[in-house]
Amino acid sequence: QTSPETATAAREYVREVYETVIKRNPHEKEFHQAVKEIVDSLVPVFEKHPHYMKSGILERIVEPERVITFRVPWVDDQGKVQVNRGFRVQFNSAIGPYKGGLRFHPSVSGSIIKFLGFEQIFKNSLTGQPIGGGKGGSDFDPKGKSDGEVMRFTQSFMTELYRYIGPDVDVPAGDIGVGAREIGFMFGQYKRIRGGNEAGVLTGKSIVYGGSLTRTEATGYGCVYFVGEMLNSIGWSFSESTVVVSGSGNVSIYAIEKAQQLGAKVVACSDSNGYIYDPSGIKLETVKRLKEVERKRISEYVKEHPGSVYTEGCTGIWTIPCDIALPCATQNEIDEESAKILVANGVKAIGEGANMPSTLEAIDVFLAAGVQFGPAKAANAGGVAVSALEMAQNSMRYSWSFHEVDDKLHDIMKNIYRNSVKAAEEYGHPGNLVVGANIAGFLKVADAMILQGIV
Ligand code: GLU
Repeated sequence: QTSPETATAAREYVREVYETVIKRNPHEKEFHQAVKEIVDSLVPVFEKHPHYMKSGILERIVEPERVITFRVPWVDDQGKVQVNRGFRVQFNSAIGPYKGGLRFHPSVSGSIIKFLGFEQIFKNSLTGQPIGGGKGGSDFDPKGKSDGEVMRFTQSFMTELYRYIGPDVDVPAGDIGVGAREIGFMFGQYKRIRGGNEAGVLTGKSIVYGGSLTRTEATGYGCVYFVGEMLNSIGWSFSESTVVVSGSGNVSIYAIEKAQQLGAKVVACSDSNGYIYDPSGIKLETVKRLKEVERKRISEYVKEHPGSVYTEGCTGIWTIPCDIALPCATQNEIDEESAKILVANGVKAIGEGANMPSTLEAIDVFLAAGVQFGPAKAANAGGVAVSALEMAQNSMRYSWSFHEVDDKLHDIMKNIYRNSVKAAEEYGHPGNLVVGANIAGFLKVADAMILQGIV
């Protein structure tokens, strides 16, 4: 039983740390948002185990171990010199080498990379694999760039990044704007600079030079496996569901694929310009070809599929009635208003395939309505989990079959669900997977940090 003094001390502690974060990182609103969600969830932990407060765990965990920013100069197809900014945040190495993707998108800033790196600490811990948290990227916009431009930019990016990474130090992978093509160019450049084949320095590699089977599918499949567990708990299933998936990138495509394999009807997906609605069910082959091969806009889909409609703008997708919503595009794509519409339309489950796709207010709407809500750290952890399996295979110089990796992924997602449910119950918030995932992810990192002393 927690004394009122300890309860007050826990709340005060969390408030003070959060205020310090705001003061120390002014204007970084995405980072503030990610920190706020975590620290609020941890109050019951500090009430129950005040010793975490004495070890200064929270003030240490919210400060990255290291933040690197660097110049990325390159020459475009017109012969003009371009300069972008590169980032790598090495947030926490308590349980393993820093691990997390690289994002290439014009919106990338210190705040975006820090929020992503911070989330990654807890997500990676939840996977049960020995990986710390990190993230990186650049404000480079791959949209409309030629292969040559992407290669020159990416090589320049790696020419600086290489000195901070390594298979036992920091292992980047993909995220928005970074897929197999970019990872390939970066791996080539890293190998050329280092002069050896350190396969485990990057994950998301192509299968022909050390990648893992199932890595491409892992985030999307994993998200659907996670939602499957949530649906089980309410006696519902994908086979009787209408599903809306935002985005049309790697996460989205494989979430659609797995949902369809399980018998769901997926009626919508989107890109950053707008969304398509196909009441007869999305034809995934078209989406794959348009986005993965031809690198075209999703609006092209409607030319090939009469009966489908394209609408400009992104938030409208959440007005389509569905049983399951899988936001797989980007941060803060579901606001309070959209959350209310989804709930009013009878949504049963939300699985966050993207990182932080729901605002704090939207999450409150979902939790208050009592719908199943799978937070990003838990629901999209399948990608990085299989990245860790890729590292393991690289260390063994061995590769597992598609089914071996897929089975492991499925088990990992079930474990994340179980551990989150258990932590939520143990700390007084039964059914709240936001609190459950945050606490379960936090405890392992906190214990590892305490065991390793003040470093
Ligand atoms: N970018 C992915 C994520 O947000 C994957 C990171 C990785 O595989 O390292 O978790």
